[in-house]
Amino acid sequence: MDFRFSEDEEAFRGEVRRWLREEIPQRWTELDPGIWEETEESWVLAREFQRKLGQKGWLAPAFPREYGGLELSHMKRLVLAEELAYSRAPVSVEVEITVNWVAPSIMLFGSKQQKKEYLTRIAKGDVIFCLGYSEPNAGSDLASLQTRAVGDGDDYVINGQKTWCSYGHLADYCWLAARTDPDAPKHKGISIFIVDMNTPGISTRPLMNVLNRHSFNEVFFDDVRIPKENLVGQKNNGWYQLVIALDFERSSIGYAAANQQIIEELVRYAKETTRNGEPLASNALIRNELAQLAVENEVARMMAYRIAWMFSRGIHPSYESSMSMIFVSELMRRTANAGMRILGHYGELDRDSKWAVMQARIMRMCLSSLSIGVGGGSNEIQRNIIAMRGLALPRK
Ligand SMILES: Cc1cc2nc3c(=O)[nH]c(=O)nc-3n(C[C@H](O)[C@H](O)[C@H](O)COP(=O)(O)OP(=O)(O)OC[C@H]3O[C@@H](n4cnc5c(N)ncnc54)[C@H](O)[C@@H]3O)c2cc1C
Repeated sequence: MDFRFSEDEEAFRGEVRRWLREEIPQRWTELDPGIWEETEESWVLAREFQRKLGQKGWLAPAFPREYGGLELSHMKRLVLAEELAYSRAPVSVEVEITVNWVAPSIMLFGSKQQKKEYLTRIAKGDVIFCLGYSEPNAGSDLASLQTRAVGDGDDYVINGQKTWCSYGHLADYCWLAARTDPDAPKHKGISIFIVDMNTPGISTRPLMNVLNRHSFNEVFFDDVRIPKENLVGQKNNGWYQLVIALDFERSSIGYAAANQQIIEELVRYAKETTRNGEPLASNALIRNELAQLAVENEVARMMAYRIAWMFSRGIHPSYESSMSMIFVSELMRRTANAGMRILGHYGELDRDSKWAVMQARIMRMCLSSLSIGVGGGSNEIQRNIIAMRGLALPRK
């Protein structure tokens, strides 16, 4: 098997790298917001950068040209995702949600009008979606969701509550799962809607995350009226559409590149630091920790390549996405924990300390990596999916 990229793909990688060197704002690098650490200031920078990517056609590079894409191959899309992640570019989680999770679902299930209206604006970087899936009593068992959408003339009227809605307070639209037939079996009465977050009757309440940042929200729908044309796909077919959308969500392309950058920083730190008169890099335990991370990150990279390859062949990744998500999320936790061991007490210092190392990134990664492996469906649920879809084991 030849895993090398083609000359054209390597040239594209060079072009992306050069562009990123010019375009990543200095202020973003100073703020260095990790995952789930957005602030109002970083959000503005991320939105500006998103539009710049959009102008270049690189926000949704694989989209058809009629919807603002460049029809780039999935391999080039992978190269771009790797470079964006490795360079810690200002790309928020919501860009990922909007471009790589919501948009492919619109492409598959949306009406002509919806494709025209939303895909072009997504590709330009003009709009952001949040996901309205989880509810106080529906997380892993998402099919138990209770938010109702009831037809009334030309509208649907929505009532209910969502929770853990990432960046719902900043999003333009909600990609909402709601119950449209309460009498049908629970997997069969759900539909998907696009809801403008400025519609009267919607309110959000912040939930502070483990990093003490406002990324999560509770979102309340109180007699929210939306036009019937905002139903996506067929009424009551939402569960099937959700499952496909979640497979996009779980494909985790790009994480290995982000993790590679952390590993390289740890290697540099080990080379440049002495402890008890000895370079850290000559300590056998630390060498082993780093070598192990290098091996595992290579596995994560190959899993991401497999998924990109499947997309490029028009094959929809299913349990393969779950495998990648489990491996990557657990690897990120292992990387953060190994980093904490390597940095020792310095790893516990926050950015405001003059002794902080690597902008306290490892400590922040340690905290944020608790959430990876829960969002998008917990790793236990991913293992259930692999057991059922990958190994054909019975559901129970
Ligand atoms: C960082 C982050 C961002 C998120 N963003 C969003 C968002 O934008 N929109 C949104 O709708 N939701 C979002 N979520 C919510 C996420 O989808 C849910 O947290 C997740 O589906 C788990 O649901 P729960 O929290 O209700 O846990 P529960 O379902 O109550 O699960 C509790 C525990 O039981 C285990 N468990 C449950 N059922 C099974 C089973 N059948 N087999 C084995 N183990 C099981 C779970 O693995 C978990 O460990 C986000 C979560 C996180 C952490």
